[in-house]
Amino acid sequence: MRTSCALLLCLFVVACSDDATPPPPDTIAPAPQPTVTAMVDEARIAAMDTVEPGAWLTYGRNYEEQRFSPLTQINQDTVADLGIAWYKDLHTFHPLEATPLIIDGVMYFSTPFNIIYALDAKNGEEIWRYDPEVPGETARDACCGVISRGLAAYKGRIYAATLDGRLMALDAATGVPVWEVDTIIDRTRQYTITGAPRVASGKVYIGNGGAEYGVRGYVTAYDADTGEQAWRFYTVPGDPALPFEHAEMELAAKTWKGGEWWKIGGGGTVWNSIVYDPDFNNIYIGVGNGAPWTRIIRSPGGGDNLFLASIVALDADTGVMKWYYQTTPGDNWDYTAVQDMMLADMEIDGAQRKVLMQAPKNGFFYVIDRSDGKLLRAHKFATTTWATHVDMATGRPVENPDKAYVDNAQWILPGPFGAHNWQAMSYDASRGLVYFDSHDAPFLYSMPQEYQKSGFYKRRIRQWNTAVEFGHLQQMIRQRGDEPESKGYLNAFDPITGEKKWVVEKSHPDNGGVLATAGNLVFQGDALGDLTAFDSDTGEVRWQINLYSSMIAPPISYAVDGEQYIAIQIGAGGRGPDSADEKYGSTARIVSLKLGANVQLPVPPELDLGIPEPPPLTASVEDISRGEVLYGDICTFCHGPSARSAGGLPDLRRASPETHAAWQSIVLGGSKKANGMASFADLLTNDDAERIRQFVISRAIEDRKET
Ligand code: CA
Repeated sequence: MRTSCALLLCLFVVACSDDATPPPPDTIAPAPQPTVTAMVDEARIAAMDTVEPGAWLTYGRNYEEQRFSPLTQINQDTVADLGIAWYKDLHTFHPLEATPLIIDGVMYFSTPFNIIYALDAKNGEEIWRYDPEVPGETARDACCGVISRGLAAYKGRIYAATLDGRLMALDAATGVPVWEVDTIIDRTRQYTITGAPRVASGKVYIGNGGAEYGVRGYVTAYDADTGEQAWRFYTVPGDPALPFEHAEMELAAKTWKGGEWWKIGGGGTVWNSIVYDPDFNNIYIGVGNGAPWTRIIRSPGGGDNLFLASIVALDADTGVMKWYYQTTPGDNWDYTAVQDMMLADMEIDGAQRKVLMQAPKNGFFYVIDRSDGKLLRAHKFATTTWATHVDMATGRPVENPDKAYVDNAQWILPGPFGAHNWQAMSYDASRGLVYFDSHDAPFLYSMPQEYQKSGFYKRRIRQWNTAVEFGHLQQMIRQRGDEPESKGYLNAFDPITGEKKWVVEKSHPDNGGVLATAGNLVFQGDALGDLTAFDSDTGEVRWQINLYSSMIAPPISYAVDGEQYIAIQIGAGGRGPDSADEKYGSTARIVSLKLGANVQLPVPPELDLGIPEPPPLTASVEDISRGEVLYGDICTFCHGPSARSAGGLPDLRRASPETHAAWQSIVLGGSKKANGMASFADLLTNDDAERIRQFVISRAIEDRKET
């Protein structure tokens, strides 16, 4: 249950704690707690490495967002003594993806449904907790899970953006809200926010998600003190019958040709990376994919469709564009450029350059001059069958004509999960290496049946509008039986030469963000539940611990009272077959480790992965087939492809007799909406809901035969 702590704070802090009964007040004095002020500003962030190397003041640690810790106590010689110092259960089965902040010995982080914690970073004791009471049914509008990637801190306040699109400032000392604004321009569309806000230059910057459902992307800046709107930058043009909101939209509109993209939305959401550059007073925004994905439907006359899949530099004070670089002109594959961006100074071709680095979904690693947006490098870091290379003279990728999917469905690399997604990268400037996770995860791109028959595609209300029909697609993949294997990698990548100094091949494709440290170590959590320290030079494993939960969040490092810690959110939920979450169920925690500590996590029992006998299958072959398509269109994004959840949300092949009995009231009546399972009565009839249930039963029967 999620309860708001803030109002009760003065009376009973411990009453909201999820730990056991507190000790009687007359026997144990309350532990001294760290000073909670979070007086973070530009000067403090700039001085962090010399003044307080044990802090973690922004999402990416500092403004450069390099996620490199200068701490050295935990190093190759000492790491064998690394153990768990403390942990705290976080009570959710939704994915944990956030980066904590560490300010004055206090750890601030968010969890699914945007519950915000302030903990004593030394021992995990709760200082305050705030629940913005995001309605559970908002989960239905989030394409890819109930997610929150983090917070921002500035001048005594903690800034948070919620899944339901609000932006708020909290008093860092108490967690009590100071102001709150609604960032969403159209509440009839499925806008959500999963990314962390950024704060600098007196303003808070936030984008949103929702391109898969069909929205129009934008970024807004608000006055950090008052919440008053300062500027808004749209990333794609709107209805041509209406005036342009700002001059950049006139430029963008010329690159959209034919079609009625604005009815679906156009896409271009800025759902992850926003970076402030104090050198130029710029804000860099990473812009997402088109809505719909397929360009021949979105913009049938061709065109680059600015600013989809672009990195755009805006003046931090005015929101006026300074330059842009489009990674994937005319995006056709969900190749977002929202992945984390890092700023650095480095020598390239004999000149000292201030650069921006990004490894977006499309498989090329970009190094861009921050002063003017000039492309300096674009090396391939993964298998890319959609394009052969980037032409450095034009800055454009050279598409592979053999992989057009207008006429035939095609397996293409990368797929919509990208060659690299939002998982954090880390840059070790002393070695000139960027460490990051990547994968070869192919996807069968195909045109929608509706379009193939009629040449039209009509917006689907409150459903995905990718124009890739996942229901038919999953059925087609099962029938074809030719799905290539997905693979995962941890890379030590030289952004200038494009060479990989080392690569660790992972047994699972979907793993966590990365932290490099001056202790010559690279930390990463993975799907199997292993948190590993790799040798920065060789990739050899120097230390490893299993935490019994899949990890996708990035580790951080911090120091309190002269001791270095490594901390990470664990419990990813739904991270696929053979993951720790499938083996043990998903246990959400924040775990903090230091040298010489030896706290043990409770060892979870391995789950019985057998499938109980399902109720009888009574539907016709046609109804089960229809149920499969409906499942793929509506249920698969949370409950897993072909009804195999593999951790986190319920695996419907194992649904209990009670769930089967209550099926209609859950699916149509919304009886579990507080958990995120909202009613789908607007999309499904009673017969449709039953068809989905029959498909799930058929899958249970099928998989029981195999075990
Ligand atoms: Ca997308």
